[in-house]
Amino acid sequence: MKIHIKRWTFKKGDHLWLEDTKPDMYKDNNVCDSCGSQMKEIAKIVNDNNSIGLVTGLCPECGYVKRTRNLSEDWYADHFAKRWLVGSNHEISDQQILTEDNYIFNKLKKYVQKNGNILDAGCGIGQRLLPFHNNGYKVFGFDPSEERTKIASEVMKNIEVNSAEKYLLATDQVFDLIFFFNVLQFVENPFDVIKKASMKLRPDGFLFFSVGQFYNDANFCQFSHIGLIRSFLSLFTMTELFKELDLWPVEYSESPMEIILQKGVKGPQSMKIIENAKKITEKDINKYVKKTLQMNRLKFFRRTNIKYNGRKITIEKNRSSSNLLPVNFNHDDHDLPILLK
Ligand SMILES: [Zn+2]
Repeated sequence: MKIHIKRWTFKKGDHLWLEDTKPDMYKDNNVCDSCGSQMKEIAKIVNDNNSIGLVTGLCPECGYVKRTRNLSEDWYADHFAKRWLVGSNHEISDQQILTEDNYIFNKLKKYVQKNGNILDAGCGIGQRLLPFHNNGYKVFGFDPSEERTKIASEVMKNIEVNSAEKYLLATDQVFDLIFFFNVLQFVENPFDVIKKASMKLRPDGFLFFSVGQFYNDANFCQFSHIGLIRSFLSLFTMTELFKELDLWPVEYSESPMEIILQKGVKGPQSMKIIENAKKITEKDINKYVKKTLQMNRLKFFRRTNIKYNGRKITIEKNRSSSNLLPVNFNHDDHDLPILLK
């Protein structure tokens, strides 16, 4: 299906913006990182020359969703180091001052003994690590953002500017708890990162991660343009990896996806959680597209406005389009826009 993007406006001081990119800045990789299958395209960004920018795919075997064509890892590393959430607009200002955020601490303190080693993978300014630090745990953290790690380093030792892949390879620490709070969607290969993290866990140590679920977080147009969110994990996609790594679910919630895993210890809920995991299929994507792109209005009026969080996207549907997927988002100029923050 062809969708023309006629206009996309942002509110004043928005932390999201559209940036122009060139086709030669992109790299293709349409093999599923979980099961090795060829992924099926579900969304494409296209300009008036028919050049292609960001592409998103779905794995028909395991339901993994990722960008199958995206800007390079180096490009994003630079973005995260220098530009990611830099600034002081009101929407992110609460993340610029280091105060305790107890969400992770309250969830996980009962699993980890005092003075245990805690790693916050992607620690930002350190707000989730601080309560562990203040309660006698030994804390470690890293984040690709120079500005944000600087704030964390002023209060805590053992904070580094680094990427997950490099940090987990280099560290010789063994951890009682490693957590990734809204981090894994930004790495190139989350399966590889979990593997590396698992190797740094104590034999009965804990791993926690949370990732947003796209079908609750954004309309399909925004979802298809925001390349720095590289992947969308679901429990079903990961169950084989967990078994291979001897990681067993202790607690799980679906949306936002949050999971606590223990290494080497199968808990009373583990099998039930694994067996109830549901695969994301094309049917789920179709439903999500129809709802968030307002297909009924589009069919009737050919044009519709998607309004969300102070932003507005005006889209038009090509009459001749047949299949719903993949959705081609056509921009009527030379630019290949990508959404950044
Ligand atoms: Zn797969």
